[in-house]
Amino acid sequence: MPGFEIFGEEEKRQIADVLDTGVLFRYEFTEQRRGIYKVREFEEKFAAYTGAGHAQAVTSGSAALKVALTALGVGPGDEVITQGFTFVATWEAILEVGAIPVFTEIDTTLNMDPDDLKNKITDQTACIIPVHMCGSAARIQQIKAIADARDIPVLEDTAQSVGARIRGQHLGTFGTCGTFSFDPVKTITTGEGGMVVTNDPELHRKMMEYHDHGHDHVINPGGRGGEGRSFYGFNYRMMELQGAIGIAQLAKLDSMLAAQRKNKNRLKEAVAKIPGVTFREQIDPHGDSATFLAFTLSDANHRKKVGTVLQEHGAAAICWAENTWHFYRRWEHLLGERTLVNNGWPFAAGGKRRFVYDPQDLPQSASLLDRTLVYPISIRMSETKLKDMEAALEKASQV
Ligand SMILES: *Cc1c(COP(=O)(O)O)cnc(C)c1O
Repeated sequence: MPGFEIFGEEEKRQIADVLDTGVLFRYEFTEQRRGIYKVREFEEKFAAYTGAGHAQAVTSGSAALKVALTALGVGPGDEVITQGFTFVATWEAILEVGAIPVFTEIDTTLNMDPDDLKNKITDQTACIIPVHMCGSAARIQQIKAIADARDIPVLEDTAQSVGARIRGQHLGTFGTCGTFSFDPVKTITTGEGGMVVTNDPELHRKMMEYHDHGHDHVINPGGRGGEGRSFYGFNYRMMELQGAIGIAQLAKLDSMLAAQRKNKNRLKEAVAKIPGVTFREQIDPHGDSATFLAFTLSDANHRKKVGTVLQEHGAAAICWAENTWHFYRRWEHLLGERTLVNNGWPFAAGGKRRFVYDPQDLPQSASLLDRTLVYPISIRMSETKLKDMEAALEKASQV
């Protein structure tokens, strides 16, 4: 699953370059840095790797979503559609820009259901955020076509799927822009960090300026203090140390994915022996980043039995319906409209509620997730570990 497993000499060497110059800031310090620009280099390499025209590094995957939404011009009064199975950061970012999150069902891809997306689009829809959950693609081409027909931008939340592709094209590059996360449990990590990619130079310019207080980064004799600005921004700048680690991690990504695919295929064979089991639908099985193995049982009762046996035999799997961070019905702080803002914003404005979430919404997603179990796949899984898991799965196939 994550880059922390293979943190090593390459990362240390990259960090040493930065420590040798003592320049931790991505801009300025021209003489002292001796030509070393790690964040810029990471951006260039990330863009080249994914095949995107531009990449903008930021402080986190959450910040990447907010910076992208802001640059797309999304704000109060707008609705943004995402799926009810994602990490909370996706809708937090929507609320952060003052817009209203609208949730779709997921389908057998465990990602956005394009049919339900059509039901949820209104005149207020300002952006659509499909999430490529757990290393595997949403029906992004279908979603993009629906959005294009209505001239709505698509932001792909690719936080969990760096390196995943559909017939060679990287997830995150199908939409108007795509965001990535490098937090400690993601496939490549910089401790904290994120990236937005886009082919649109104007959108990239807005993101670059916004993430740095509006600095226009046009060289001028007065230096950084004398740069111009077209609008106000905020600070979501990545540090040089993070950029350095990112360069080392990115160089290892393809070999990490290859190792995960091997481990995943092996476990998949063992899971396939469970009667009635089906696997998550893959748009392109070869492009899956293999960070997770998701399998679905015929009913919730069977899922519970299988889950219990696996747990008893030391091979516990995750049930996302029970996990409190990833599924709509478990987000009591969203459903309960809990905010620190005294006047109730963003759930209320002018003393009125802006929207209401029904805890019984998304029955199709609930039914799917209730029947589904998921294994995170590691890069390093010992023969003993794999054998133990296979034995547990053998037991589970008998309940
Ligand atoms: C991790 C994650 C994020 C947020 O990334 P951070 O770097 O942790 O802020 C956003 N969306 C999804 C789907 C994620 O899994």
